[in-house]
Amino acid sequence: MKIPEMFQQKKPVFSMEIFPPKKKANIDSIYETVEKLKVCDPDFISVTYGAGGSMTDNYTCEIASNIKKRFGIETLAHLTCINSSREDVKEMIGRFQAADIKNVLTLRGDIVPDQDIKKDFHHANELAIEVQRKCNDDLEILGACYPEGHYESKSLDEDIQNLKYKIGAGVKVLISQLFFDNQLFYEFVGKARMMGINVPVSAGIMPIINSRQIERTVALSGASLPHDFTKMIGLYENKPEELFEAGIQYASDQIRDLIKSGVDGIHLYIMNNPKVALRVYDNIKDLL
Ligand code: FAD
Repeated sequence: MKIPEMFQQKKPVFSMEIFPPKKKANIDSIYETVEKLKVCDPDFISVTYGAGGSMTDNYTCEIASNIKKRFGIETLAHLTCINSSREDVKEMIGRFQAADIKNVLTLRGDIVPDQDIKKDFHHANELAIEVQRKCNDDLEILGACYPEGHYESKSLDEDIQNLKYKIGAGVKVLISQLFFDNQLFYEFVGKARMMGINVPVSAGIMPIINSRQIERTVALSGASLPHDFTKMIGLYENKPEELFEAGIQYASDQIRDLIKSGVDGIHLYIMNNPKVALRVYDNIKDLL
């Protein structure tokens, strides 16, 4: 099913993100994870695209296709463009079509120093145009958004202004970067609507369940840390079991508040950990 149609039919649309294992030999582990996720009844599962990954050793297409075939769960294949030529993108679109993939998250990818940047695409909207042009309406296009502004933008207003290029290029649903302060998400959506962006916006939530994540993910995302969040970290940073429980509770509370406020969708960043997904799902299922 095409994902934009889901957003017309239900609220909230509930989805999860997984990432391919680094080695082909470990690919079955991802299907074991998805098997466990089935009880959460996700509307779709998104599969990330390795930044800088070559077309041949990137398993996004294979995994997204197999999840549909084996589990009957709709998928969203991520695709980045900053390290790809127009030819590479054409090849990938062909592979998606051949694998019966219906939905693509068009992304630029992060600009990493010393990495091979091809010059065919500069921004995600250019990739969205290319996908639209080549896919014969086989693929629906989704895009990323940033409740606190993308780190390269001077201001949130500038970032939202740039977001409009994506919508103009055919992006029909936005999925947000993770955030820990719902108020900032509500302000972002309000601002986007005022500036003429009317597509559904799914809220990206990542449960923080261990101290390694705090150092890496939280720091990298640049997300603001509200008082309740830093208090939780301060209390449980060195107590792994308590931090796990508190992190699940924090994310569940965020999601319950978002759903009660009428959010279009919830996109759970589960870090390939089904236990996290199941625990959060248990806490929110009465609202889905
Ligand atoms: P863009 O939309 O191109 O935006 C990047 C910057 O350029 C922003 O500051 C924006 O305001 C500005 N901008 C946008 N369009 C224009 C324009 N036309 N002219 C001038 N300025 C413009 N990365 C991966 O490598 N693999 C993944 O699978 C992946 N999945 C992601 C999923 C989600 C939901 C999110 C939120 C991010 C994901 N990322 C992934 C990270 C993403 O690639 C980075 O955040 C990247 O830095 C920006 O990607 P973008 O598609 O938002 O880029």
